[in-house]
This record gives sequence, C-alpha cells and structure tokens, in this order.
Amino acid sequence: MNADVILSCLKTLNFANFAAQINLLKDTLKHKGLRNKLIDEVVAKGIKDPLVIEAMRKVPRHLFMDSGFLEHAYQDKAFPISAGQTISQPYTVAFQTELLQVKPKDKVLEIGTGSGYQTAILLELKSQVYTIERQLELFKKTQLFFDKMGYRPKKFVFGDGYKGLPEEAPFDGIIVTAGAPEVPKTLLEQLNIGGRLVIPVGVDDQEMMRITRISETEFKREQFGTFRFVPLLEDKN
Ligand code: SAH
Repeated sequence: MNADVILSCLKTLNFANFAAQINLLKDTLKHKGLRNKLIDEVVAKGIKDPLVIEAMRKVPRHLFMDSGFLEHAYQDKAFPISAGQTISQPYTVAFQTELLQVKPKDKVLEIGTGSGYQTAILLELKSQVYTIERQLELFKKTQLFFDKMGYRPKKFVFGDGYKGLPEEAPFDGIIVTAGAPEVPKTLLEQLNIGGRLVIPVGVDDQEMMRITRISETEFKREQFGTFRFVPLLEDKN
C-alpha cells in the first residue's frame, strides 16, 4: 500500500469515527416517540407531578447509556453502566424526584451520580445541583459526557457521599441513589429546615424513605415501599 492509500484510509476512518460520534448524540423523532411511550408507562404506574413528567419527557435517556443499547434505554428497567453500577429504573428516578419536591433554584445534593441521568432530571427542574460519585472511572466518563451535552451541575465532586458536602450545606433537598444500610447522620445535619432527604434504606432491598427536617432537632420520617438499588459504599474508589 502506498502512502496516499494509507492516508485516504485514515481519513475515511476518521470521518466514520466523527460521524459515529455525532450520531451518538442524536435525539431523533424515533427516540422521542419511544421515550414518550415509556413516560406514559411511568405515569400509569402512579407518577403525578407534571413538572417531573415534563422533565422525564425531555431528557434523552439513551444518551446516558453505552451505544448499542437503544432497545434497553426506553424500557422501564435499570441497566448496567460502567464499574458494575446501574442507571436507575425510570420509574424509580421519577418516584424519588417527585418525593424530593424540587422547586426552581432549590439547592439539591445528589449522592451517586452514576450515568448522570438523575442529575439531568434535577437540572431540567432548574435546581442548583451538587452531585457526588465515588467511582473514579464513572466520575471521569460522566464528567466528559456532561461537558459534551452542556449539563452544568454547580459542582460535580469525586468523593464519598456519606460525608455529604458540608462546605455547601444546608441543602433544600438531598437525594441518595444507592441503597444505604442506615440513614447517615451527616446528611441529616446538612438539611435546611423544611429540607427533604430521599433515601432508600436497607441491605438486600431497601425501603424508600423521606425525612423532612421540621426544626433544628426534629425530623419527620415517611416510608414509601420497597425498591432495589446498588449499595451505598464508604470511601472513594
Ligand atoms: N443516579 C444514578 C444511579 C447510579 S447507581 C443514575 O441514574 O445513573 C448508584 C451510584 O452511586 C453508583 O454510580 C455508585 O458508584 C454510587 N455510589 C455508591 N456509594 C457512593 C458514595 N458513598 N458516594 C458517592 N457515590 C456513591
């Protein structure tokens, strides 16, 4: 093969790569149709908050998963992402977001960024999002993805969410997207009066809890049924 042929092959390959990348960020009418069907299903399962539903209709879930899994993106199921983690089930994301009762400008802390899908829903609701991920590989990947997509959390931190983010506290809402063996006291301390912590608590499966701070010392606890999450782990990795 002479140099010209090699060069032209390289150019073609580069172009294919470029085209594939553009394609990866596409949200076509077909995607939108599939997504609307999925969100109709989520609504049929009991989600009522119109703003949450609108946000779910907007965020292109297929782009938060590795390419080639389109047929899984628009089913109401959790799905594996990098580092042995999962992107949460759409119904669960909607359910937790509804419980959080986010208003525009609310300061919200998310523990367990993962793919960034839940983060994007919170951003769509116009809250100021602080989000923490403990897996370095996932952190780097999702950071690149946020940049590419123009998603702008106030802070995206590589660290241990058990500790919360004391330098930014208090928060109007804290959402934990991994199963916690018990409610971390540090997170309760970082709630505003009136602030809500939404957290799945348990080891094998988890009870969804919402804990609202009523005063400096009083908290109201509510339970919302059983869910299944990957575990909340200590320390970063
Ligand atoms: N919200 C994510 C769910 C990802 S699964 C999404 O929609 O994709 C839960 C995530 O929590 C995993 O990425 C896991 O690495 C992370 N995690 C577990 N323990 C953590 C901790 N102590 N601090 C921060 N992140 C944690």
